[in-house]
Amino acid sequence: MPGMMDTVLNLGLNDDAVEGIAKKSGNARFAWDSYRRFVQMYGDVVLGMKPESKLEIDPFEEIMEEMKHARGVELDTELTVEDLKELVAKFKAAVKKQTGKDFPVSPWEQLWGAVCAVFDSWMNDRAILYRQMYRIPEEWGTAVNVQAMVYGNMGLTSATGVAFTRDAATGEDIFNGEYLVNAQGEDVVAGIRTPQQITIEGSKRWAAQQGISEADRASKFPSLEEVMPVCAKELIETQQKLEDYFKDMQDLEFTIQDGKLWLLQTRNGKRTGAAMVKIAMDMLKEGMIDEKTALKRQEAEKLDELLHPVFKKEALASAKAITKGLPASPGAATGKVVFHADEAEEWVKRGEKVVLCRIETSPEDLRGMTVAEGILTARGGMTSHAAVVARGMGKCCVSAANNVTIDYKAKTMNVNGEALKEGDWISLNGSTGLVYAGQIETQEAELSGDFAELMALTDKYATLKVRTNADTPHDASVARNFGAQGIGLCRTEHMFFEGDKIIAMREMILSNDEYGRRAALAKLLPLQKADFTGIFEAMAGLPVTVRLLDPPLHEFVPHDEKGQHELAKVMGITYDDIHNRVESLLEQNPMLGLRGCRLGNLYPEITEMQTRAIFEAALDLKKKGIQTFPEIMVPLTGILYEFLAQKKIIDDVAQTVFDERNEKIDYKVGTMIEIPRAALTAHRIATAAEFFSFGTNDLTQMTFGYSRDDVAKFLPMYIDKGILKNDPFAVLDQNGVGQLVQMATERGRDARPGLKCGICGEHGGEPSSVKFCHKVGLDYVSCSPFRVPIARLAAAQAAIEN
Ligand code: PEP
Ligand code: MG
Repeated sequence: MPGMMDTVLNLGLNDDAVEGIAKKSGNARFAWDSYRRFVQMYGDVVLGMKPESKLEIDPFEEIMEEMKHARGVELDTELTVEDLKELVAKFKAAVKKQTGKDFPVSPWEQLWGAVCAVFDSWMNDRAILYRQMYRIPEEWGTAVNVQAMVYGNMGLTSATGVAFTRDAATGEDIFNGEYLVNAQGEDVVAGIRTPQQITIEGSKRWAAQQGISEADRASKFPSLEEVMPVCAKELIETQQKLEDYFKDMQDLEFTIQDGKLWLLQTRNGKRTGAAMVKIAMDMLKEGMIDEKTALKRQEAEKLDELLHPVFKKEALASAKAITKGLPASPGAATGKVVFHADEAEEWVKRGEKVVLCRIETSPEDLRGMTVAEGILTARGGMTSHAAVVARGMGKCCVSAANNVTIDYKAKTMNVNGEALKEGDWISLNGSTGLVYAGQIETQEAELSGDFAELMALTDKYATLKVRTNADTPHDASVARNFGAQGIGLCRTEHMFFEGDKIIAMREMILSNDEYGRRAALAKLLPLQKADFTGIFEAMAGLPVTVRLLDPPLHEFVPHDEKGQHELAKVMGITYDDIHNRVESLLEQNPMLGLRGCRLGNLYPEITEMQTRAIFEAALDLKKKGIQTFPEIMVPLTGILYEFLAQKKIIDDVAQTVFDERNEKIDYKVGTMIEIPRAALTAHRIATAAEFFSFGTNDLTQMTFGYSRDDVAKFLPMYIDKGILKNDPFAVLDQNGVGQLVQMATERGRDARPGLKCGICGEHGGEPSSVKFCHKVGLDYVSCSPFRVPIARLAAAQAAIEN
């Protein structure tokens, strides 16, 4: 955990020891400089001498600044022995004043104080946050190292620094790092003195970036190679040895004590996603590691960084974060605040960039979401509508942002006390969940040749296939470019929000009888057929799983007065009539109400229309020589008979269309397994279903009894308290929900050997869940287009690890 925990240097010094060290080293300045550093660091870390508020400066820094001011010097290296002695006395007096106790003189007391403080620092805010970010279990705890010192502050023949064997940002094979003469480790990072570069090459590059002339560079900021050429040479040789030995990029710390090089520490260095890919592929080509190691080295999640637009680093450094939410969909978005989907469309039409800010989104907001740069919601979770849809689009989204209140009427929002109104600039980082006031410059991600080579390597090892969740031809081709081997879930409901479709859809829903519904469905048929044609074409030659209509119908109808008036006009009935029909659709708990295959069973004509659209599209394409493999999927099956009823409609319509055209194609009819009862009765359902696709969003919702849309209210508290380790909507709960997946797969295949099983919930793109899917023998995972590379990598890793 780099820099996350505390450390205490120069331990053991006291008024006697300092004299001994001064005598032995013949360097009183060094001895007293070490002593003043010790009192300062011990006072801070062990005795809690910290600034009282973020506005105040560090109590020791304050004393030191006063001293430097009084002596008319700028750097602490310019202070004399007498100055340092006086500083130590003043530091100790400050300790006594604030803590009421004398500074400890016994080395043993100092040692125990420091050991306990380091153990305690396991629970400081930084360490906790870091563990959360990297999923390091809290119960692991820490060890404390007690280590002999070497000193970089022994004068002009001494130095200290930090180095990387390769560039941690880009992955380039360049040894790089920084050092300071006559200093100890913390000076390099503290920013008081300007650290210098280790190599001449690096130094020149740095000077060019900083606009420093060669003459100034060489005199004021020379490289270690120039200042201490012998030690620099040894360091350069040693870093190569270390990298060759560990066969990975090293992050190392060194000290030069009076002309002798000491290495303090080496560890595998943290790196960006881009560097991670480049370093592994380079090392593979250099013959340093083999293919399996190159694959295992990848943190699948980090690939995400490579795929989405990113903020420019320099721009981000000066940006102000105003709140944080869930990193629901990665990427960088910057735009003007708008609060309504239709306004988002209007603004974008006139050339503005917008960020859609909503309390929550619903499918009605889809078009606004499509045109927005990013989406911010005050409520919701990782599988809320906004999050799922945004990930599908590869669009940046921060959901459940803290302390955001939105006033739709006034078109204002309050973020942690900061007032923002429509038209103000806002920026979102969907990878961290941070929200910034103002505009931040972004740049498109560039995919390197290394990335393509890495992806090709995944195919060599993975056995689990990767499909995509896509509802549009565009998403389908994006996913295909990322290597998707078909569509595992095409949610047909999103199609009904485009253009004229929503009007016909609303007519269908609000019709009083079958006659009215059929009339509206007849209008929808050609539109739906065109949707399928586009998607089948984009996925030509690969299987496409089309799911029949799933969401509660009230999601499609207008709930506002204006919208209801408009609809009344279109349908030629009164406003009161429309209003009453909309009201009658409301349910106490729509997620458990009239949705999924219950819809198709109540209104078989909907299933008929969708099935006809699928087969007419497929047969049209067949005529053009384009191959399609439709797999029709029934949503939310819980009982064999509700599936059978749907399958009969599908097979009948298929036969009718085949007869009409005197032509046929192969197809499959299967079901989602997303209700616990379906998993429990999988052996029965598999007698009729030709494939299973686990809808782990709903399966998680119903297994835990947590509402997908409301979970954010208590989830952070559960994670905080350690009741849950992860958000089960993001990371598959292998002990519970996963058992249902495994059992249903086994039971299903008992009844129907070779039954094709996949997963299409959000977990299909999460690495640990993908690995679980491999382990329990699923045939494929299906995930949003931008997660396809991540799933491919996780699938390859799973195959190698097992
Ligand atoms: C699911 O429930 O996991 C699923 C994929 O369907 P949806 O998210 O559309 O409910
Ligand atoms: Mg579902």
